[in-house]
Amino acid sequence: MSHTPSRQDFDHYMTPNYSPQQVIPVRGEGSRLWDQEGREYIDFAGGIAVNSLGHCHPVLVDALKAQGEKLWHLANVFTNEPALNLAKALVERTFADKAFLCSSGGEANEAALKLARRWAVDHHGEHKDKIISFYQSFHGRTFFTVSVGGQPKYSQGFGPVPGGILHATYNDLESVRALVGDDTCAIMVEPMQGEGGIVPGTQDFLQGLRDLCDEHQALLIFDEVQTGVGRSGELYAYKNYGITPDILTSAKSLGGGFPIGAMLATDAVAKSLAIGTHGSTYGGNALASAVALAAVEFIDTPEVLEGVKKRHDLFREHLETINRKYGVFKEIRGMGLLMGAQMSDAFEGRAKDILPLAIEEGLMALIAGPNVLRMAPSLVIPEADIAEGMARLDRAIGRLVAAE
Ligand SMILES: *Cc1c(COP(=O)(O)O)cnc(C)c1O
Repeated sequence: MSHTPSRQDFDHYMTPNYSPQQVIPVRGEGSRLWDQEGREYIDFAGGIAVNSLGHCHPVLVDALKAQGEKLWHLANVFTNEPALNLAKALVERTFADKAFLCSSGGEANEAALKLARRWAVDHHGEHKDKIISFYQSFHGRTFFTVSVGGQPKYSQGFGPVPGGILHATYNDLESVRALVGDDTCAIMVEPMQGEGGIVPGTQDFLQGLRDLCDEHQALLIFDEVQTGVGRSGELYAYKNYGITPDILTSAKSLGGGFPIGAMLATDAVAKSLAIGTHGSTYGGNALASAVALAAVEFIDTPEVLEGVKKRHDLFREHLETINRKYGVFKEIRGMGLLMGAQMSDAFEGRAKDILPLAIEEGLMALIAGPNVLRMAPSLVIPEADIAEGMARLDRAIGRLVAAE
């Protein structure tokens, strides 16, 4: 008996922690998607900054197929060629000397935080255990990472939270100075806050964090799960700032749609992740690593990275044009192809109302909190798809405004 799954099945069979849109996409190609009814959509959402090369990019499909016929998985009892190639590619292209591979951003951050704590114990003693992060930050959904994240709604209601975690105000160095000390183990920060509303860190702020870490012998951890792998117009956003962290985490765009995460670290720090201290059954999975390697090699070229910057300008121009017409945005901001448009006072909190209207017009977009419309499209989205997607967004926002 064949059964065509429907949106109702979600409510019947799946835990109720999400509320997905009503349509079910079944096929994607580049920056276009089709649902069960054959309706077509332009994708500005990119699976939340994951589908770095759009849907079913031939380079990724080829890597998946080739590896899929060779070897999928060995766990960490053996190493494998794709994992070694990926680790080498990441190390050679960044500040890092070592890579730890895992399956998601939350897992990469969990590894980073555990490594920082262990490094502090190894080099300074048990007392150096304070982790400083920022209000509105997002670092994943494991219990340690929601606790370090700066949105209490994600960590409350689950019993006692891990201790030794302090929160400061993003882009406010004084608020960090008030907390930092010789008991600071690490500062974890997104170079641009993603979930927190697409808020770029200022040069002075991020440099100030680097200096404070050096002063107090603490580690600087950049969470580049959302900003990484070309999204900012550089392979990693830290390169835009010229500020080097001690640990960096990556996921989302890294696999182009295949689940994978990576934690990168300097040798001096990575040493503390000694045999047996940490692990992940799927970490370094051969299929995931083969796809991620293809993604990294394709993205880390001048053509693709320059293309991201060019498309950023296009997105900005289109959004400004829409705003001149409707006055719905207070600020348009972001880096590369991670863009946010903050709603004007008259439309405060209404970003989420745009999404279903956009779906009706044939456009998928995102929000970052209730007040920011977010876009994280394919890094190689064709200009024609940008123009058509923006025409659809224009109509969706026109309807939002007309309904006032
Ligand atoms: C999405 C995200 C994470 C969590 O990644 P998962 O793969 O969902 O575990 C962590 N940090 C940042 C900055 C993110 O955007």
